[in-house]
Amino acid sequence: MSTNIKTYVTGFPRIGEKRELKKALENYWDGKIDLLQLEEISARLRKKHWLLQKEKSIDLISINDFSWYDNMLDTAVMLNAIPSRFRNIKNHTERYFSMAKGNKDCTAMEMTKWFNTNYHYIVPELSKEDRYQTDISKIKDEYRESKTIGIEHPKINIIGPVTFLGLSKHSDKNSDPFVFTDKIADIYKKIIREISFLDEEVYLQIEEPFFVRDLPENILSALPDIYKELSLSAENVRIIFTTYFEHSVEAIRKLSDVPVWGIALDLIHGHNNLNALEYLNNKKLIAGVVNGRNIWINDIDASVKQLEQITTAIPRNQIIISTSCSLLHVPYTTAHEEQIDKKYIDHLSFACEKLDEVNLIAKLFHYQTLSPDEKAMLERYRKSLKERTDISKTSVTEKGENHPLERESPFETRNPIQKKVLGYPLFPTTTIGSFPQTPELRKIRRNYRNGEISQQEYETFIKDYIEHIIEIQEDVGLDILVHGEPERNDMVEYFGELLEGFVFTRNGWVQSYGSRCVKPPVIFGDIRRNAPMTIKWITYAQSKTDKPVKGMLTGPITILNWSFVRDDIPRDLIAEQIALALRKEISDLQKGGIKIIQVDEPAFKEGYPLRKIDIPAYEEFAIRSFKLAVSSATKETQIHTHMCYSEFNDIIHTIEAMDADVITIETARSGNELLQIFKKVNYKNEIGPGIYDIHSPRIPDTDEMINQIKSILEVLPAEKVWVNPDCGLKTRKWKEVIPSLKNMVNAAKIVREEIRHP
Ligand code: GLN
Ligand code: ZN
Repeated sequence: MSTNIKTYVTGFPRIGEKRELKKALENYWDGKIDLLQLEEISARLRKKHWLLQKEKSIDLISINDFSWYDNMLDTAVMLNAIPSRFRNIKNHTERYFSMAKGNKDCTAMEMTKWFNTNYHYIVPELSKEDRYQTDISKIKDEYRESKTIGIEHPKINIIGPVTFLGLSKHSDKNSDPFVFTDKIADIYKKIIREISFLDEEVYLQIEEPFFVRDLPENILSALPDIYKELSLSAENVRIIFTTYFEHSVEAIRKLSDVPVWGIALDLIHGHNNLNALEYLNNKKLIAGVVNGRNIWINDIDASVKQLEQITTAIPRNQIIISTSCSLLHVPYTTAHEEQIDKKYIDHLSFACEKLDEVNLIAKLFHYQTLSPDEKAMLERYRKSLKERTDISKTSVTEKGENHPLERESPFETRNPIQKKVLGYPLFPTTTIGSFPQTPELRKIRRNYRNGEISQQEYETFIKDYIEHIIEIQEDVGLDILVHGEPERNDMVEYFGELLEGFVFTRNGWVQSYGSRCVKPPVIFGDIRRNAPMTIKWITYAQSKTDKPVKGMLTGPITILNWSFVRDDIPRDLIAEQIALALRKEISDLQKGGIKIIQVDEPAFKEGYPLRKIDIPAYEEFAIRSFKLAVSSATKETQIHTHMCYSEFNDIIHTIEAMDADVITIETARSGNELLQIFKKVNYKNEIGPGIYDIHSPRIPDTDEMINQIKSILEVLPAEKVWVNPDCGLKTRKWKEVIPSLKNMVNAAKIVREEIRHP
């Protein structure tokens, strides 16, 4: 039977063609629908996605790629790795969402980026008190569901034991989660045995992306034993050891003698994987040749050619055509993007279209006859690829090398000047930029976009909103204010729309975390700024208050990393063009009297290459782009940056080299442990570590925030510390934001007083 398997998809987006899952989850959380309705909508989505893949001739279709929040969280639940603070919640659904989002008593589990993507997973917390058990009810249900509708080979997706451990944290901060390897390996064996009863023959995709990193020998050498045991746990379970986003040659080599059924490799982002083929040893090769991370059409002829070359190492009938990773990272379909100019749309391929690509490549590779539709598709692709080089509309002649990268004076000189100009107290309080985006606000933006209200009406509304936000901030007592970003739908899309070189989708949503999705812009050509982008709003906000208002820009690396960038133009060139555009914006903001400018780089770290060897090149161009953008600031202007994560150990020297006057970061969920590195390197510039978690609706009280500030002070010198939430407030509600900020300002005041009058 298995010889008939020719096509494979690593995973499919679950959020839905019209983001149905997002809406259902949010309605459920708001009490607008009940659990039964949430379950019904979820089942309908799964069914639709399975049938679609079946219709597109995908032979191995994933189940358990669906999740109400995140697959790592699902894995923790499957293993009964429930942190103690959630164990007394008896209702499983309530417990699940509390782990993800926190509740009034418990802080949520930490969330962090999934490798170098903008998808966030929930970080499991393991402890020696854990009693692991198997709970495969979710898998069982989905398996049955998929069989009922005629999915012949449901392939069960699970996160592998090593990746699960490697991405977890230990409740005892000094130990590493790999101390649980034996226990976890045992429980996986049980899971495989339970899974084996689901069918005569079961396909199990065990995802181990952890192995695409440079790993120490002790982890690599544990691999063969773990997988030998797993593969012997049940004869009828066909294990597919799956990695993605980079090559995993070292791991595949270790598995050479282990009898797993197949090895899934990313042949797009892991060129080195070609060197893994010699270790396959009669295993199936699941060849990831359709890019699951980008949205450009596949060069079908090139993919077939690449596969032909592989046949010198692996027999043709052992090769199965697949996506390079789960399609979770691309939007659903290009079908509803009529507004995009035809000359662009023919170059784009989202999840549904990629299914066709997998199928077409498989047919060509296996010498099957193409249907007339498939032939037409192939011709269309060939034609588009030929035309693509002509698309670039403009050409930017300005060069980064003509500008200095350093600020006019070093931090030690700038800092006292800025403190004097801005006059802020010890523990200055501020926010990260955005304020709640209410349904009313979204509606106004939508109406303006659709031409239902005039520009003047729109601007009046936004200005009133800004004025209101300024009043609230003054009332709350913040020191450094922001305009609140009401004019921005999204921090990248907003700038993309004002710059030349971008194209936008209407429905190109990609899941970022939980129910949250982003709609990355598409960079098609050279990038150029034709007019100021933010000056009008920021200077308006500044005109309404005597306190300093921070200008708010999105940094070059974030714009780059959160866009779909053409794969045939060097990324550093695009980053430089964006930096030059921002540089002009910063000059104009300064001329307009703005004294603090924040250049957000939340995507700075996720762009890091997964392999050490590639890191210096990335850091070089990332630092250069940031500096090129901000070095137009005079010494009086204070440059802030914001990054959405907390783990700085590996990148601290890069952060130092960026030389922002103030960096605000996201450490609220992890206390002060991750700040130690700033102390260790004696970080010179100022830092706002984020004293409460904005990803949860919870309102922390003043005492809790005082404790948070004090724990920060154990590590950082008081005169460098800023007090702020850990990210923007756009996803929160006013009723959460106002009391939280009041408590935060209060906490800063109390600690300030205590320091002054000990
Ligand atoms: N200034 C942005 C905001 O406050 C930053 C968002 C982010 O870090 N992702 O929304
Ligand atoms: Zn952030």
